[in-house]
Amino acid sequence: MPPDVASLLTPGAIVDRVGPLAESADRLVTEGLARASRRNIVRCANPDDFDFIDAVDPSCPGRVTVPEADLDDWVWCPRCERRLETSRKQAFEAMVLQPDLPALRARVEQMLRSLGMLVREQPVGVFRIESDGKEAAVVLMDACGFAVRTQLTVEQGAIAVAADCSKFGWQLPRGAPLLAAAELVLLSPDPLLPAWRAARAGAPRVIVGAPPPARTAPSPAPRFQLPPGAGWNDVTIYYVDGATVGIAVPGARPVHASAIELGMAKETSRTPSRRFALLLHVCRHRGRTDWKSAGFADDEPISFDNFAAFRMQVSPLRRDLQRLFGLADDPFAPLGRCRPLVAAFRALPEAPGELAFLPRAG
Ligand SMILES: [Zn+2]
Repeated sequence: MPPDVASLLTPGAIVDRVGPLAESADRLVTEGLARASRRNIVRCANPDDFDFIDAVDPSCPGRVTVPEADLDDWVWCPRCERRLETSRKQAFEAMVLQPDLPALRARVEQMLRSLGMLVREQPVGVFRIESDGKEAAVVLMDACGFAVRTQLTVEQGAIAVAADCSKFGWQLPRGAPLLAAAELVLLSPDPLLPAWRAARAGAPRVIVGAPPPARTAPSPAPRFQLPPGAGWNDVTIYYVDGATVGIAVPGARPVHASAIELGMAKETSRTPSRRFALLLHVCRHRGRTDWKSAGFADDEPISFDNFAAFRMQVSPLRRDLQRLFGLADDPFAPLGRCRPLVAAFRALPEAPGELAFLPRAG
């Protein structure tokens, strides 16, 4: 069985220095189709690690790069999504690959020519092949822009090829094939031939059209809508009482919200969760705290046994805040054992001067 090379051109693909994919990865680098950097990584499921018994899937192929020293050493496995404490796991040397898209475009064109096709690239990433007055196209999904990918419902058969297959598979009609660029390069370009024949015969393998209706519900609109371009430094969260925070964003009056309203209450008892208590504490301490001082605070003490327990509350609070404000950026500066938790938003122990947010009376 050939090695599973399909994902080798996914940006950030991690390949063990010694392993079944190393040779294929080297070939991509030698041929200029990918750049590699050496990084230390840990394996999600490594029988020699202390956490192997907790593995969701003992054969999970997930790998993560070890974060820089002093940064948060807990990361999520990209495959099974369990949390990995990288500093306690065995580290290995690995290659992290980044595909070179211009080189890949040139390679796709070369492959098509080698199959005897007349090719014209127009626009970037769309390789048009004409024969007997009929046109088909091979579309390198990664190389063309969103508008091209979604508006390419043309009277031609379009054959979808992608370096990053997981990213583009969902944009195709259900069940439509997507050829993995890495497989075409490393194994054989032959699958392009029947695809092209079918497309030319009027039975296109794939028509790249508007994205199908999302299979999962679209993410809900953020609860607190920010104006375009606004970020965490435009958000103010302040302490109101032990059950309520105030939230102020540009262009809107400040509002008071409870843990339940923010989705930060325990599901069963409906009482505020620990991450809500942590948010209150961060406000009382003007956006700066750490696990030790949190436990010794006179007001709103919130005790943590250790740094790991503290971080376990920071992670869900971070995700809740990102969801509420629709911001992908981290609402906290990078957290580490020796770095305090510092909010990127303005955290205050009381309401800011109300006049700052209200229109001046005429
Ligand atoms: Zn895993």
